[in-house]
Amino acid sequence: MTDTTNTTTDETPHDFIRDRVRADLESGLHDHIVTRFPPEPNGFLHIGHAKSICLNFGIANEFSGTCNLRFDDTNPAKEDEAYIRAIQDDVRWLGFDWGDKPFYASDYFETLYAWACHLIGEGLAYVDDLSAEQIREYRGTLTEPGTHSPHRERSVEENLDLFARMRVGEFEDGARVLRAKIDMASGNINLRDPVLYRIIRHPHPRTGDAWCIYPNYDFAHGQSDAIEGVTHSLCTLEFEDHRPLYNWFLENLPVPAQPRQYEFGRLNLGHTVLSKRRLLQLVSENHVAGWDDPRMPTVSGLRRRGVPAAAIRDFISRLGVTKADGLVEMSYLENTIREHLNQSAERRMAVLDPVKLVIENYPADQTEELEAVNNPADENSDTRMVSFSRELWVERDDYMDDAPKKFRRLTIDQEVRLRFAYFVTCTGVTKDDAGNVTEIRCTYDPESRGGDSPDGRKVRGTIHWVSAAHAKTAEVRLYDHLFAEEEPGKERDWLEDLNPDSLDVRSTCYLEPALQEAETGIAVQFERLGYFCTDPDSRPDGLVFNRTVGLRDSWAKAKDK
Ligand code: ATP
Ligand code: MG
Repeated sequence: MTDTTNTTTDETPHDFIRDRVRADLESGLHDHIVTRFPPEPNGFLHIGHAKSICLNFGIANEFSGTCNLRFDDTNPAKEDEAYIRAIQDDVRWLGFDWGDKPFYASDYFETLYAWACHLIGEGLAYVDDLSAEQIREYRGTLTEPGTHSPHRERSVEENLDLFARMRVGEFEDGARVLRAKIDMASGNINLRDPVLYRIIRHPHPRTGDAWCIYPNYDFAHGQSDAIEGVTHSLCTLEFEDHRPLYNWFLENLPVPAQPRQYEFGRLNLGHTVLSKRRLLQLVSENHVAGWDDPRMPTVSGLRRRGVPAAAIRDFISRLGVTKADGLVEMSYLENTIREHLNQSAERRMAVLDPVKLVIENYPADQTEELEAVNNPADENSDTRMVSFSRELWVERDDYMDDAPKKFRRLTIDQEVRLRFAYFVTCTGVTKDDAGNVTEIRCTYDPESRGGDSPDGRKVRGTIHWVSAAHAKTAEVRLYDHLFAEEEPGKERDWLEDLNPDSLDVRSTCYLEPALQEAETGIAVQFERLGYFCTDPDSRPDGLVFNRTVGLRDSWAKAKDK
């Protein structure tokens, strides 16, 4: 795809975060803004992450700052090198650049270890032998204070010794943890002696077997921000309660900078789920064909489905950034995609549910090349030639027996236009024993070549077609919402809300030959049907198309019926 440029508009948008950045530059608090996008490499990115990416990279671009891509790789049990690669591909495809290299929290493991020892030395951290379950019990509740661990008053020497022995692997997984010593009675549960380090014997994608203790998110995140000189650390609202802890570390450690954390509302999208844990479950339990299944809300799924990166950026910029979580309707995303594709996609003809149309008065041995415009939405659009002959494929639902007056398509004695070709009048149909139409017959008016009226008479509708002798066959995959309910899991188990009809495979569709050359990922509009792109499953002898999105005001729905 060619669309890799960022869409920063002339005017920098306003929201509470950008206003703060602007103010910090104006007051001289910072002369260079640094943000970061910090994915944990435990799954593929979804469109919610795209919001964070557009915000962090967008701000860096708008204010001539820097945005780091930093992998928050502190939990080796769930992380994988393949996710690290996929995340980089997705961020790049979305149109963003993180300079010469990504950052990794694991690059700071040695520093973080030294800082943990520093806290111990200050009497601000201790090794605890309580089990995970006991720690939970001792933590208290929202209404009751917690209880001190019996190990809370260990001496600095004993703590340093035990922590060093944790590092070299003397103890079993889960046998001991390092905790901060803050306040077991704090109203903020995150401050009740949070765990900083766990023993996890699991090879790490980047550090291998060098470590068997790992810092948790809270102990790694703010310190990584400080090491990288991040000025504005932007995260979603669920981290608001972690901010006091974030700041506590910055106050109590010899960090080289003082980043500030700001929280914004996460993106939630209807008829899908945006949680890596759930998306992973959909993949691992084969509810979908993979992370990049075109029904998935992942960046790679949207890309495979044919959604342009610019449409995703545009969608996110229209939503804006606020301090409240909200639920956005899927149709809002679809409208944005349609707007983009309407401008860029060339039109082609394809028949997805074919039935034969025979023009009885058209010479059997004749073929004509008719001119068809490629994109009526583009004034400068060029044209292509489309072959026309006596036998065509048309859509089954473009014919109806005893049609009501509003039906503007094929029915006996009604004249319609074949797009770019001729006026035809339906004269009869042939049916099989079950009553299904197997062939539609018509006559054409040779004077109406190009689909223009020869004498000013009007036809009631226009239908698309493909010449049977010239058609290429293809498989076309039609997608609907992955979940039937707007908020999966609201009323029952979320998996029960999966839409059983989210995939409709049409194995024998007919395309005009020009589609044979379609390049993977490039969008086309099938006239009257929607926007489509070829799927990587395509073979030279068997194209596969995905429907990216339907046409909202398709002629079929709005005008013909
Ligand atoms: P999930 O809940 O899907 O597992 P996560 O927050 O655990 O997501 P991370 O890899 O840690 O996944 O996320 C990287 C960044 O993306 C974080 O700063 C996080 O706040 C942000 N992010 C994740 N989901 C959303 C969302 N739905 N909307 C906006 N930002 C999001
Ligand atoms: Mg996270």
